[in-house]
Amino acid sequence: MTPAVAKLIDVAEPLRVSVLLPLPLSSFYDYALPEGFAAPPGSFVEVPLGGRQAIGVVWDREPDSNLHPARLKAVRAVLPAPPMPAALRRFIEWVAAYTLSPAGAVLRMAMSAPAALETPALRAGWRATGQANARLTPERAKVLAALADGAAHAAENLAASSAVLRGMARAGLIEPAALPPAPRFQRPDPDHPGPTLSTSQQSVTQQLHETMTNCQFAVTLLRGVTGSGKTEVYLDAVADCLRQGRQALVLLPEIALSSQWLDRFAARFGTAPALWHSELSPATRRDTWRAVAQGAAPVLVGARSALFLPFPDLGLVVVDEEHESAFKQEDGVVYHARDMAVVRARMSNVPCVLVSATPSLETLANVEAGRYRALDLPTRHGGASLPEVALLDLRRDPPERGRFLAPPLITAIRETLARGEQAMLFLNRRGYAPLTLCRGCGHRMQCPNCTAWLVEHRAQRRLQCHHCGHAEPTPPKCPQCGAEHSLVPIGPGVERVQEEAALLFPEARRLVMASDTIPGPAAAAEAARRIEEREVDLVIGTQIVAKGWHFPGLTLVGVVDADIGLSGGDLRASERTVQLLHQVAGRAGRAEAPGRVLLQTWSPEHPVMQALAANDLDGFVAAEKAARAPDHWPPYGRLAALIISSEDAVAASRAARDLGLRAPDVAGVTVLGPAPAPMSMLRGRHRHRLLLKAERGIAVQPLLREWLARVSLPNDVRLRVDVDPVSFL
Ligand code: ADP
Ligand code: ZN
Repeated sequence: MTPAVAKLIDVAEPLRVSVLLPLPLSSFYDYALPEGFAAPPGSFVEVPLGGRQAIGVVWDREPDSNLHPARLKAVRAVLPAPPMPAALRRFIEWVAAYTLSPAGAVLRMAMSAPAALETPALRAGWRATGQANARLTPERAKVLAALADGAAHAAENLAASSAVLRGMARAGLIEPAALPPAPRFQRPDPDHPGPTLSTSQQSVTQQLHETMTNCQFAVTLLRGVTGSGKTEVYLDAVADCLRQGRQALVLLPEIALSSQWLDRFAARFGTAPALWHSELSPATRRDTWRAVAQGAAPVLVGARSALFLPFPDLGLVVVDEEHESAFKQEDGVVYHARDMAVVRARMSNVPCVLVSATPSLETLANVEAGRYRALDLPTRHGGASLPEVALLDLRRDPPERGRFLAPPLITAIRETLARGEQAMLFLNRRGYAPLTLCRGCGHRMQCPNCTAWLVEHRAQRRLQCHHCGHAEPTPPKCPQCGAEHSLVPIGPGVERVQEEAALLFPEARRLVMASDTIPGPAAAAEAARRIEEREVDLVIGTQIVAKGWHFPGLTLVGVVDADIGLSGGDLRASERTVQLLHQVAGRAGRAEAPGRVLLQTWSPEHPVMQALAANDLDGFVAAEKAARAPDHWPPYGRLAALIISSEDAVAASRAARDLGLRAPDVAGVTVLGPAPAPMSMLRGRHRHRLLLKAERGIAVQPLLREWLARVSLPNDVRLRVDVDPVSFL
């Protein structure tokens, strides 16, 4: 009982509790707690709210004693779910304060399986009464034999019709009985035989083991080249966590692409982990949430939203591929799951492990400042060597007109296929062509809702916007000048590269892997199986082929357009390109046969290309730091973006100007903008941006709060606050 509640007992008033509701509100609501109700902090309660019922969480804060008792509504019910752990409540408060979001909006992410809070439906079965009866039909005898252990069994396991069972009940032979809840998750066995670790893996494992034994908050960066066995090493820390009887949380950037990871987990621990991602069925979601809350899910592997699950006894948080921008959530509460994972671990006072072959500059800066410790795995496992990366200068060796593969790459693919090995072509662009242009009048096919070109998807004969989902049939003639047969595709997408590959390598068995051809986890697992079992010779894919896969037969990777991510002037364009291309390159030569990577580029002298060719990631990081640090760009300073949008163009620009006029004027802080966003229209809304940049020692949240309090925005204008922005569109 909180002190506030105790105090209120003395004055013989109804007990009051402060409740947070999962609504986009920052305020708490007070309710009276009827006599006989116990609702310690964290309890899920049903309360009246404006004529309906809502479910909220009792918060450990002083109720508002000024509210007249007569105006106080009463808690209707305390739900039979385990109370939300204090560490999660502190985490919700922290995320709300850091991201400038209403606490209720963050709570909503922690209550994303409302069905889990209801009383679990009792599953009914049958049990023997023990009143044996001499004359039993064979059917009845079989049922009694199945029930001989005295426990309740489900009807479907008794191999008798329901008429027979009802008849036996009437005869007093059996009676209905509640079944125990089905165990959903088997305990992964930490002592299940795993691989024998190499000496360098052992030494890193030993250091992680000491961290696990210490059992308190500490952040470790596990850095290792692609194929060095990082996964095996952190699974060992998961094993330590299991031996302590605590729960481990592992975040993966794309859980739908993680079939190979799940196979390895099962091989290491003898059973599958619990999963958490947006595609779970409602029933699995409910059961998983409940299992986590009851401590019955020892290891949970999930997407970023798994941070908000109610672990009662968290022992370890792992973030694999910590540099991935997929960890940034851009809608609703805007947060970076890698950074919040560190906070989550701190709130529970447990170790956190960040894993990457190409760590983010943010994490490296924390290592340099001594806040995080780094452990390195410098070589590939099992004697495999890192692939040799070569630049293919498109100015010297251009592809044929209208083609996208340069002659040296074509030769390399031929040779690879002739040796019976597999090759991969990587192009980070879905569809057939990113632009459709009229040869007659120069008209470009553009999205009606966004500042974006429509991407041709030839197989479906459609043009699609990759930002808002708008799609239209490919027009037979130019909508501008009416000329027929004048629309031409400009530039390649994976479908077009596949078309070229079909002409060049007609014998090769090809597979296109893009998010629209591989729609879900099952399709991704099937594609991976076909590649592993050598049913495919040539893989053509977007960034979904870059992630974590281990294909032992793959020895050549060709990057069709290595320059693609460098345009646009984004703060992290170079960093992201290095990370992505290094990751793709890391798919080559993971077994005995050596790997080779060819990067097609128009600017081989670019520092990014040079760093990749020389495999000099440290040199690249040093150069990035030298470029960012003097002007306090992250991670050597802080950024927050304000994105103003409205369906009304004038309202949007006026609101942006008002915000700009009231911008903070503080030493060490610069406000850039307002300016129309690079994507000045998105989903039919006009957009403007402001960017606040502060020296590292300055907390931006109080500045932002004061700033926003000085401005009142009209209803038709929306403001999104993005602390530590990743996207600048
Ligand atoms: P990374 O995550 O660093 O890219 P992985 O953990 O995926 O590396 O390991 C690469 C491959 O090597 C995987 O197939 C993994 O099973 C295998 N491997 C790593 N360490 C060992 C080991 N000690 N014994 C056997 N196989 C290993
Ligand atoms: Zn669009």
